[in-house]
Amino acid sequence: MELFWHRRDLRIADNVGLAAAADRGKAAGVFVFDPDVLDHASDVRVRRLLDGLAVLRDAYRDRESDLLVARGDPESVLPSLADGLDADRVVWNRDYTGLARERDAAVRRALDSAGIAREAHHDAVLHEPGSIRTNAGDPYSVYTYYWRKWTDRETDPPAATPDSADFLDAEALRAAVGAEDGASTDARTDGGVAADRVAVGDLPAPGDLGFSEADAEVGLAGTEAARDRLDAFLSEAVFAYGKDRDYPSREATSRMSAFLKYGEIGVREAYEATERAMETAESSDRPEEHVESIEEFQQQLAWREFYAQVLYHNPEVVTANYKTYEEGIEWRDDSEEIAAWKRGETGYPIVDAGMRQLREEAFMHNRVRMIVASFLTKDLLADWRHGYEHFRERLADHDTANDNGGWQWAASTGTDAQPYFRIFNPMTQGERYDPEAAYIKEYVPEMRGLDADLIHEWHELSTTQRANAAPEYPAPIVDHSERREEALEMYKRARGED
Ligand code: FAD
Repeated sequence: MELFWHRRDLRIADNVGLAAAADRGKAAGVFVFDPDVLDHASDVRVRRLLDGLAVLRDAYRDRESDLLVARGDPESVLPSLADGLDADRVVWNRDYTGLARERDAAVRRALDSAGIAREAHHDAVLHEPGSIRTNAGDPYSVYTYYWRKWTDRETDPPAATPDSADFLDAEALRAAVGAEDGASTDARTDGGVAADRVAVGDLPAPGDLGFSEADAEVGLAGTEAARDRLDAFLSEAVFAYGKDRDYPSREATSRMSAFLKYGEIGVREAYEATERAMETAESSDRPEEHVESIEEFQQQLAWREFYAQVLYHNPEVVTANYKTYEEGIEWRDDSEEIAAWKRGETGYPIVDAGMRQLREEAFMHNRVRMIVASFLTKDLLADWRHGYEHFRERLADHDTANDNGGWQWAASTGTDAQPYFRIFNPMTQGERYDPEAAYIKEYVPEMRGLDADLIHEWHELSTTQRANAAPEYPAPIVDHSERREEALEMYKRARGED
């Protein structure tokens, strides 16, 4: 039998590594709560992860097996568990972040020294980092060129879905790890450290892992929910995606990000569904813009892979600027302003609506992510790392590569980033992308009774007008025009142009 180690692939269908393991004989699946990974987690993501794991466990149970759940360092847990199960091999899918690669190298060494075979597969993206390069053999740093090659590439079909016969049954699992029904046992035969524990299907509560219950809605989890969401999106909304995706109140995007982050749907399966939608659109004589709209959606899937390869080739960008400025950027980093931004109390309605959506739903619309990120870096002149850290804590879909890519784009420090002199005006952005202020009113209740015009003119109103219109809502904490000039100066100094 073979032991499959689930990480960011909480699914049984279209799982390349699991399909390979199951194809050779019986497989058993394990998830390991690694203290080093938990150090970087948050209440919201632990909740979302546990929800995803509960659905995965049910998928194993539907196949008369169960999910092994371990706690401890994978370097020690996996060799001892493989040994206890008498596994021929430990199999996983590659994860491309720097931290994951270090961990996987350590696990490889531990398995090698224990004499246990191991195998890593390419699964998380359609085209693996390193496989798409410029003609000179370098990684791409400009998205448009990357996209052209990405879209021309052949893609693999979804991997086969294992069934009951492919898995070790739950009783055999319990016998192998020596557990009573649902109970835990030490993974190490020598009694080991208390943290190295393996349970059959028994998931911890957030408190057992040192986290609190999330104070935000994290959304549905699991493969069926992901498929339902994608099917619904591809059957209608996708045709208007190109024209509506920038308008946060239109709910025009797929909301697939957390499903993709946790790997609850395979990217081959998702991409194949978009290809089918495109064929149907073409054969049913839909207007050209409907077909282009599907391609625009595929372009977002390619952005995900673009940033995955940026991070793969440049693991240091998690904390360092991708694009260095000769003199370094002198961020202002005013802690009160940053705190007001986090609370959604900047007095710029579209910014505050976004920050409050984040707090309530552990999600934020893409256009609004761009607006709030621009506001933090170019109106508050705060280091993008403050924003990245906050998003990392609050987003259910936090993905190191995409989050970092998004922040460095907004801060003009990234690959293919927004030029430093392009500074969003938060009021005109609000007016353009939320003209009726429907999104703002949804998340900023203080403004619900106001006309959209008044909301979009909030920065120009007098103190008395503001007090009469929405006494609870703050005045702008900074003057955009002034800060815009200061930002330009800040970047020019950083470029040595002073
Ligand atoms: P859709 O528009 O339906 O897109 C489909 C899928 O394509 C998304 O689910 C996502 O997987 C991918 N995608 C879309 N846009 C991007 C993009 N710009 N970069 C990379 N992948 C993309 N996305 C995350 O998945 N995790 C993050 O932590 C994250 N942080 C971000 C931070 C900032 C500052 C910015 C500007 C963007 C960030 N994004 C992040 C990208 C994007 O905002 C989200 O992927 C998107 O809003 C998710 O909604 P959706 O699934 O409805 O997207």
